[in-house]
Amino acid sequence: MGPVKASPQTQLRLLELADLDAELARLDHRRRGLPEVAELARLEARASELKDALVVTETELGDLAREQSRAERDVDQVRTRIDRDRARLDAGQVSAARELASLQSEVESLHRRQGDLEEVVLELMERKEELESRRDELTTERDSLGSEMTAVAAKRDAAVNEIDEQESKASDRRGQIAAEVPADLLKLYDQIRSTRGVGAAALRAGRCEGCHLSLNTVDLNVIRASAPDEVIRCEECRRILVRTPESGL
Ligand SMILES: [Zn+2]
Repeated sequence: MGPVKASPQTQLRLLELADLDAELARLDHRRRGLPEVAELARLEARASELKDALVVTETELGDLAREQSRAERDVDQVRTRIDRDRARLDAGQVSAARELASLQSEVESLHRRQGDLEEVVLELMERKEELESRRDELTTERDSLGSEMTAVAAKRDAAVNEIDEQESKASDRRGQIAAEVPADLLKLYDQIRSTRGVGAAALRAGRCEGCHLSLNTVDLNVIRASAPDEVIRCEECRRILVRTPESGL
């Protein structure tokens, strides 16, 4: 690309472009850094934890219900056998001493078994109560999390809409200005912008506003000697250096 030339007025347009590009970058940064986005991600992570915890709790409750009815069935069976043995004893059907002793000992051991099983049923019921209250807590938190997420999402959407509006205005304005800048100058500006973030900067009071370094006397003298339509680059940051009435030349 040969040396790019442009009238001082056109070069000044580059500063407007740079301002708009900075605003667009600021808006993009704001959109990415919206606190609502991070907050929503945190809430979503918690919601997914709650969902998993609820599945685990419901599964445990199901297992427990099956275990409980099995234990209750066992208790019933033992009771039935005790009743039957008692009936035999009470009816005096058993007279032989050895048989009597064996039946009495069976009734005793059945009572112990019944006691053990009833204890198991009680433990299962306690565990069930704990799990049910845990399930209720999880459900309550999930529901309130749901409404919180809806509120945060609405806030995020409002913020995004506002950013979109500002972005569309800045972008329109940029398009209008870019249309007034000759293609070779715009290409140079965009090339520098893609590598350095900012394509053009003003020379103000002998200082490049892109890299904020003061130019030395030699460089300032070179600029003083340059034709107004020459496009100058900062020796430090290589950005297009636009001369303004405040350049201090
Ligand atoms: Zn510079």
